[in-house]
Amino acid sequence: MSNKIYQMCSRCIMDSSDPHIHFNDQGLCDYCVNFDSVIKPNWHPDERGYAELMKLSEKIKKDGKGRDFDCIIGLSGGLDSSYVSYIAKEKMGLRPLLFHVDAGWNTDQAVGNIEKLVDGLGLDLYTEVINWEEMKDLQVAFLKAQISDQDLPQDTAFFSGLYKFAKAHKIKYILTGGNFSTECCREPEEWGGYPGIDKRLIKDIHSKFGRRVLKTFPIVDILAYKLYYRFMLGMTVVKPLNLIPYVKQDAEYLLNSLFGWKKFQHKHHESRFTRFYEDYWMPRKFGFEKRRAHFSSLIMTGQMTREAAIERIAKPELDEQFLKSEFEYVANKLDLTVSELQAIFDGDNKTCSNYKNKRFLIGIGSRVMSAIGLERRLFR
Ligand SMILES: [Zn+2]
Repeated sequence: MSNKIYQMCSRCIMDSSDPHIHFNDQGLCDYCVNFDSVIKPNWHPDERGYAELMKLSEKIKKDGKGRDFDCIIGLSGGLDSSYVSYIAKEKMGLRPLLFHVDAGWNTDQAVGNIEKLVDGLGLDLYTEVINWEEMKDLQVAFLKAQISDQDLPQDTAFFSGLYKFAKAHKIKYILTGGNFSTECCREPEEWGGYPGIDKRLIKDIHSKFGRRVLKTFPIVDILAYKLYYRFMLGMTVVKPLNLIPYVKQDAEYLLNSLFGWKKFQHKHHESRFTRFYEDYWMPRKFGFEKRRAHFSSLIMTGQMTREAAIERIAKPELDEQFLKSEFEYVANKLDLTVSELQAIFDGDNKTCSNYKNKRFLIGIGSRVMSAIGLERRLFR
């Protein structure tokens, strides 16, 4: 970065800390250009989207006849998954099973939100608890691997747990809180945005730095869920939040007034590890601020001003004292001493390309997805 001229987009706050960002003559970044030319023309959170949502609801209901549940929703307690649970039950009239993966890092607030939502909506919740010894071993292995993608172990547990459960119970529809409204600016790969669950990468890192066999830890590879689950098992992933007006503040207000659900200070704060990783580890060890992408999504969709985002990103979400105590908490929880975690923090950074992976194949897959319109966010 040092020999490159610093530049920030003239509309959002994405900047040259993304090593492959491109700016046009008007100073607009390629995320903004992609939003204008690819996302916006294909995003209809109006009557058109509503009609599609209703059609979809009927199809899912019909398919669910005679089954215990129509669909499954992975619930973290965060805004997107909480809101889609509400929409599924109250607006789509579905009978979803709420599925939560407990990887050991839930904040009290996330747990409280899940309880309130489950009670308030009167839905069933299934919680899968990941073997903590295995989780810890994989997380420490990833930390030692020195890559920026430190949330891959949790993401792998969440998505794989969900896919495995859906497969075992022959549930065809997976509803997710994935949406353009708050996520249209997808963080670049260098900022820990590795595109999917890569079993080869996980196995290689774990074989080099792990100490214990992963006997029960769920790993469903991206090729399995994109191809086998989809085309052989007929599993369909549905994103209802793209078909309705989804405004972050309004959704937070509604969930709070209906269920006593509490809003988080920032996206991904439902996991204590993710909160620490995004607010401390990433910006200080790698120089990447995921909030830059989160805020840019809100700017592109008219939910935040560029000025407010610049002001907010100037300092961490959490104060210094709290971050210091979280550093100790994370170290202790992972059975590391503070100085051991500090030594990892001070070590040389690496990237996924330092390990065996199938990034090349995934790249072909995402280019095909973009070409046929199944992926509209910017993938390079
Ligand atoms: Zn931009």
